[in-house]
Amino acid sequence: MKTNKYPIAEYDDLEMPSDDMDTDIRNWHSHLVKVRKDTECVYCGAPISKGDFALSERGFCDGEPFLIHDCIDCADDLIAFYNEEIDSEEYCRRWETRHKKYAEQDRR
Ligand SMILES: [Zn+2]
Repeated sequence: MKTNKYPIAEYDDLEMPSDDMDTDIRNWHSHLVKVRKDTECVYCGAPISKGDFALSERGFCDGEPFLIHDCIDCADDLIAFYNEEIDSEEYCRRWETRHKKYAEQDRR
């Protein structure tokens, strides 16, 4: 099972990159959770199994409540980028590698 690389507090209100600037997000929070049912990463599509750690993001989007999960790899890479352990190219490369891998698995 995957576990967090960084102290739990680093995952609090960790803002994942988004190119969607049109939606109105309110009361947004993120934190590290153990997921209660199988789901998948919103960013890369990686499966997240019940009991795995993941970044939970919740809030209101255009007035509607939402709850999404991001896999620990996506969260860890973002923290690594913010900590300047990796540059933006490396960050994108890692994301693309995961995204491709899980997109291929879906097609089978
Ligand atoms: Zn992911």
